[in-house]
Amino acid sequence: MNSNPGQTVQQKPELDFSKPWKVAFEEHFLTPSFCDLPSGITAISAPKVYQGLLEVGSGRIDLMDQAKIEYAILSLNSPGLQAEASGPISADKAIRSNNELKQIVDAHPKRLGGFAALPTQDPYASADELERAVETLGFHGALINSFSNIGDSETVKYLDDPSYDVLWERAQALRAPIYLHPRNPLASQQVMFAGHPELLAATWAFLVECSTHALRMITSGVFDRYPGLIICLGHLGEALPAYQWRISKTYSQKVPQSTLKKDIYGYLKSNFVFTTSGFFDTRAMMNVAETVGVDRVCFSSDHPWMSMLDGGDWFDRAQISDEERLRIGRTNAVELFGLEL
Ligand code: MN
Repeated sequence: MNSNPGQTVQQKPELDFSKPWKVAFEEHFLTPSFCDLPSGITAISAPKVYQGLLEVGSGRIDLMDQAKIEYAILSLNSPGLQAEASGPISADKAIRSNNELKQIVDAHPKRLGGFAALPTQDPYASADELERAVETLGFHGALINSFSNIGDSETVKYLDDPSYDVLWERAQALRAPIYLHPRNPLASQQVMFAGHPELLAATWAFLVECSTHALRMITSGVFDRYPGLIICLGHLGEALPAYQWRISKTYSQKVPQSTLKKDIYGYLKSNFVFTTSGFFDTRAMMNVAETVGVDRVCFSSDHPWMSMLDGGDWFDRAQISDEERLRIGRTNAVELFGLEL
């Protein structure tokens, strides 16, 4: 801070950008005991990605040093527990996974934090596990991989289901952000992609799945019932900020009697945070910042599906002001999670 108010000194960020300084929170991991999950080894064709997920020790810290990331919040690889059909098995695995993650972050407490995996087949168990993860394990919230299988591979539930109100109530009370992460649509619902498997996952299917899911939550009134709930979206908001005008316009035309307290855009600006995970494009990032406000955009990498080194290097060189760099790269996340770095 400028301690001499008599001088007109340009305020500069006080951070040393040459040392690890960023915060990232769409950073994935896997442990050997979770390789039997649908998100485990059999589903991952790229050995480099698989090794990257399993690297949760000094190798991960070395990469963070190179990418100039000071603190990373880790989450179980997608689709994680959401693809477990059995509620009781999912609840058991959630406790085991979160306890394993606690051991991982305890080895590097100044560098690593945790997002809980939740057994979303059971909303009450999810609320209890979120509370345990935040209050007892010191985690920063939870990451949910879109819809949950319920009972079998073809029956699913989305988070706009009223049964999840118990989870939102708890998340709001705990001030725990929930990261809504994509997963692929069910095999039975991939007609749109028939003959074009290259368009599945991160190319396009993730965006459709995850943005639609977020809109289901908005239009069902979740954020009117829980105005303090914060949902994090990766990949620069799965295109929702870019599309907000058209969504808001046509929704208000189709539902003129809507009882929602805000338009769609209003919820994006009050209940959502958007990260740069897997989307290292300066113009797209600043378009989102201009649309929703620079205080709602945060750096993240999506490691190891996208390279943390590429993301860190891109962000550090991006043609933005150092004030914007500090806010998006660090300050917003510090404030969102109450980090003490
Ligand atoms: Mn991801």
